[in-house]
Amino acid sequence: MSNPNPSTKDFRIAIVGGGMCGIACAVALARKGIRAEVFESAPKFDEVGAGVGLGPNALRALRGLGILDAVLALTDEAQKTARQMLYVSGPGAHEEVYDYNNSSVFTEADNGIGIYRPAFLKAVMPLLPDSTAAHFNKRCTSISTLESGVQCIRFADGTTHETDLVIGADGIKSMTRAAVVGTEKKIFQFTNSVAYRGLVPMDTLRQEGVTSAVDKRLLNFVGIDKHIIAFPIKSGKMVNVVAFATDNSVSVGSVEVTGPWVEAVPHQELLDKFQDWGHDVTAMIKYMKTPSKWFIHALSPLETFVRGKIALVGDAAHAMPPHLGSGVGQGFEDVYLLCELLGPSSTKLSNLESVLKAYDTIRQPRANMVLERSFRAGVVCESFGKPGYMTPSEMEGHLAGIWEPIWRHDLEGDYATAVSTLKADGVFPAVN
Ligand SMILES: Cc1cc2nc3c(=O)[nH]c(=O)nc-3n(C[C@H](O)[C@H](O)[C@H](O)COP(=O)(O)OP(=O)(O)OC[C@H]3O[C@@H](n4cnc5c(N)ncnc54)[C@H](O)[C@@H]3O)c2cc1C
Repeated sequence: MSNPNPSTKDFRIAIVGGGMCGIACAVALARKGIRAEVFESAPKFDEVGAGVGLGPNALRALRGLGILDAVLALTDEAQKTARQMLYVSGPGAHEEVYDYNNSSVFTEADNGIGIYRPAFLKAVMPLLPDSTAAHFNKRCTSISTLESGVQCIRFADGTTHETDLVIGADGIKSMTRAAVVGTEKKIFQFTNSVAYRGLVPMDTLRQEGVTSAVDKRLLNFVGIDKHIIAFPIKSGKMVNVVAFATDNSVSVGSVEVTGPWVEAVPHQELLDKFQDWGHDVTAMIKYMKTPSKWFIHALSPLETFVRGKIALVGDAAHAMPPHLGSGVGQGFEDVYLLCELLGPSSTKLSNLESVLKAYDTIRQPRANMVLERSFRAGVVCESFGKPGYMTPSEMEGHLAGIWEPIWRHDLEGDYATAVSTLKADGVFPAVN
């Protein structure tokens, strides 16, 4: 995919990491005539075979990036209506606890989608033009700024690459982050939660007498120290199941996971964990195809996403627990604002650092707000059931409106604010 097409910019861009955010960034820049090179540690672009929920803010960001139509073309009706969460009890008869549809502020504009991650990749890959050079098996190990101001990226294979702007999209274990915040303190931590992930055929669940609307709605089975999220994918033929279990006997950050963060798991482990939960849950657990176990990690909020001409996006900047299904949505918001700010002809090598600062001023507090809410949502979803824990009305008190600040954000407003700051500071001309 290498092509020496000239960029419309007087600076070079390297994107480190080709996950959902890195690829979205490359596509959006290419649409603006800006050339970028992508350096991915894996042998090819790939996505784990699981679903991902995208809220309305994520969809608006994708629209702004020019990606939404392609994604929606691979999304069916069942996935489009799956978004508003219905909370039911995990143990017992799965009684309704709280329906987010009843939120007084809910409107149609709050619709989101659930999509199979490989389908997202399939949608965006054709949008990646030949002018984007993609380099595989390139694991970034460090970045240094040369005396000339040029960024020098080092890779595990001993090679280096020089560029002007580095966009760090290399996920939670990011190496680019070290160049922004330093390496002296441990930034990510195990949340003491594991997630068992897998797909279950809907036909099987029907045969097993499952009556919960997992083929139509986004369901959250809540309980104590455990909760399960289930939503339809593949036209409602499959149900995507994510079953969380948390060890609350130890403090967050005190346990270090030394092995891999994702591993195959014996089915018996899940069956044992959820054996005392209700019928529909145990059926989903029983028929989960090739379940995997994920050790959920998250970042402590970073003070900045930018240093000099290095900017972080996505999980590299703000990896959060998945309890509000908003991690990649925040990544898409990062990518949207960053690409919008890189687009104007006023953005040049000479003022790049000021432009990145404007990006940071807006994105750092917002993404960290969502990170903090995601931690809180996880605690609420695992505090329901017995005396001494929450009642349905207490749950409602915590959950009603929890998504509104995330979903109803004005992305164009962010861009307008950044541009007026840049004009006020004399970085952009008053008339642009
Ligand atoms: C169980 C679970 C459920 C989730 N559900 C949702 C959900 O419903 N909705 C939602 O919005 N989010 C969800 N998330 C979060 C979401 O998956 C992440 O926010 C998203 O994948 C981040 O994308 P990214 O591109 O920033 O990082 P990644 O997807 O981690 O991609 C990083 C890329 O960089 C590459 N890379 C890594 N290190 C290097 C290096 N040193 N050099 C070069 N390349 C490198 C990797 O190979 C990878 O391709 C969930 C997460 C989990 C764990």
